[in-house]
Amino acid sequence: MRSLAARMSVMSGEGALSVFARARELERQGRSIIHLELGEPDFHPAEPVNEALKQAIADGKDRYCSVAGLPALRQAIADYLGETRGLSVSPANVVVAPGCKIALFFALMALLDAGDEVLYPDPGFPGFASITLGFGAVAVPFTLSARNQLQPDLDEIAAKITPRTKVLIANSPSNPTGVVYHDEVQRQLAQLAVKHDLVVISDEIYARITYAGPYLSMMRYPGMQDRTVIIDGFSKSFAMTGWRLGYAVAPLKIAAALEMLAVNSYTCVAEFSQYAAIEALKDRGNATPRMVQQFAMRREQFVRDLNGVPGWRCQSPAGAFYAWVNIADTGVSAEEICRILLEDAGVAAIPGAAFGSAGADYIRFSFASSRETLREAVDRIQAVSSAWQKTTV
Ligand code: PMP
Repeated sequence: MRSLAARMSVMSGEGALSVFARARELERQGRSIIHLELGEPDFHPAEPVNEALKQAIADGKDRYCSVAGLPALRQAIADYLGETRGLSVSPANVVVAPGCKIALFFALMALLDAGDEVLYPDPGFPGFASITLGFGAVAVPFTLSARNQLQPDLDEIAAKITPRTKVLIANSPSNPTGVVYHDEVQRQLAQLAVKHDLVVISDEIYARITYAGPYLSMMRYPGMQDRTVIIDGFSKSFAMTGWRLGYAVAPLKIAAALEMLAVNSYTCVAEFSQYAAIEALKDRGNATPRMVQQFAMRREQFVRDLNGVPGWRCQSPAGAFYAWVNIADTGVSAEEICRILLEDAGVAAIPGAAFGSAGADYIRFSFASSRETLREAVDRIQAVSSAWQKTTV
């Protein structure tokens, strides 16, 4: 057979999905596994959302439809971003996509030529670097280090900007750290973007899942309205991961390019699910705030319990539903600890290096599970912790 395209050798998979595959294999062998590896809310969409889907199907809303998304949904997204993020965007800026990931993929495809440079957070969502490399561009990491409270380091970023830098990817709240970028950090990122004429792709998929203060979108800073592409969707905020519903909000020129890419690929997002999405955005029963309240209680319990594990340190995340645990003091690698957790304790978690080399001393746990499950997970972890206590300094 002929060889694959060269891009396939520079793209990479996701650590979460490979840990998940091994965890499922152990389950098939009859083992009990607590899944803390996937970034998936353990909630389901509110009942009116499911009802809206059924009604849309009953009404025959199962046709090809507008490429950029149903006008009513694009309007609803513009309104929603106004209400929840104080943004002033027009429906013309909104392009609906089958998931956030494809919106991200197409935003990068629309912007990058071979050799262009993209600044992205390390540790960060694996797609940031992989997709960038797939388009022949250069992925330039900026570090989120404990020394800087896991916030972007503006001096490092400024030093890494070259004439080829075209895009900066921001992701607040962050996957995998749960860190929310400080207002001042975002202000300075915006200043750099304006100064160097960068497009900021702001992955705001966790914007609704925050535990302190109102969310500040990158698009709200001076000069950013015309150079920000927001990536968001329904997977996390509305517990609709399997529905594959996302969107980009972009300046008109970029929105038109995204629409062109949609024409050339998915044509449109399933019509009936877009009707349900409109209902989700209304959130009549306050499902999202109630879900976030649950996450807040779990966060408190889980982070406290994880800090009780010998050699582990975890700062309380300001957003998302991830605990990012520093295991450097154990003297054992994150890969080895994750292996022990999965094989001996039946707890699935992800070694931090799956999110970039700056994550090497960390493990990511999702706390999108019940408090009982999280308690049981920590009990199991404590029971195997003698495996690294021997070497704890
Ligand atoms: N961006 C980030 C930062 C994510 O964490 C995820 C999902 N884990 C995605 C994008 C992809 O979202 P979706 O499932 O809507 O494609």
